[in-house]
Amino acid sequence: MQKDISTIWHGLPSDIVSKVERCVAAGCAKKSHSGDIYIFFRADDIAVPGQQFAHLLEVFSQNRVPLCLAVVPAWLTRQRWRALKNVAQKTASRWCWHQHGWRHINHEIEGKKQEFGPARSRADLEHDIRRGRQRLENLLGKSFHPVFTPPWNRCDQKTLDLLKEMDYAAISRSRGSKPPPPTGLLNFDVNVDLHTRKEKRPGVGWDNLFTDLQQAIGSGRCGIMIHHQRMNKAAFDFLDILLQALKRQKTLQLVHFKEYTASQ
Ligand SMILES: [Zn+2]
Repeated sequence: MQKDISTIWHGLPSDIVSKVERCVAAGCAKKSHSGDIYIFFRADDIAVPGQQFAHLLEVFSQNRVPLCLAVVPAWLTRQRWRALKNVAQKTASRWCWHQHGWRHINHEIEGKKQEFGPARSRADLEHDIRRGRQRLENLLGKSFHPVFTPPWNRCDQKTLDLLKEMDYAAISRSRGSKPPPPTGLLNFDVNVDLHTRKEKRPGVGWDNLFTDLQQAIGSGRCGIMIHHQRMNKAAFDFLDILLQALKRQKTLQLVHFKEYTASQ
C-alpha cells in the first residue's frame, strides 16, 4: 500500500548531487568534537515483503552500506520472514534486524500516539515487549539484535526501565527524546527524517532536510530514518545519491546498531 509522500519527493532539485556533496562535506568540516563520525540508517515498519522492500535493500547493497531494520513483531509471520530473508541473503550489505514495538497501535487516549506510553500499566508494557522479543527471537534466531525502536519514536520511563532490566543494548527514538534512558541502555537516536516530513512547501522541506543532515553529521552522531512505504522514484534516487556521497567521505563510519554498540 502506498502511503502519503512528503512534498519534497514531488521532484529533486536539478543540482541535487552537488547539493548533497556540499552538505555532507560541510557537516564533516563542522564536526564539533574529536573522534569518529558515526552514521546509521534505520528503516521502520518492516515485516511485509514486497517491491519497495526489495528495492530498498538493493540500494543499500549496491552502495555497501549497512542498514538497521525495525521489525514489527506482530506483523511478521514465518512465511514473511522467509521472504524477507530471501531478499536480504541475495545482497552483499549488512543488516541489523531489531524490534519495533509489538503491533504498532496507539494506546493513548489523548496527546501524541504511543504504543508504549503512560496510559499503560507496567505489566502490560512488559507483556508486549516480551512477546515481541520472543516472536522475533523465535523467527529470526541469531539475526535478531536486542535494540528497541518504539513506534512513533516515543515511550515512557516504565518502558525504558523494562528494556534495561531485559538487557536490551539500546533504544532508538528521535533526537532529544525524553525521558533519557537509564545508565547502561544506549541511546541511538535518529536526527534526520527522510520520508515523514510535514513541510507544506518543498523548498522549506529541502532547506530543513539539508540543515538537519549537516547538523547531524557535525554532531558526530547521525541517525537517518527511512519509511520505505512512503518512497517514490525521487526518494529512491536521492537515497542512492546520499549513500554515494557518504561513502566518498572516508572519515565517516557507516555502521548498524551492532557495530555501533561495540564502538560505544
Ligand atoms: Zn513505525
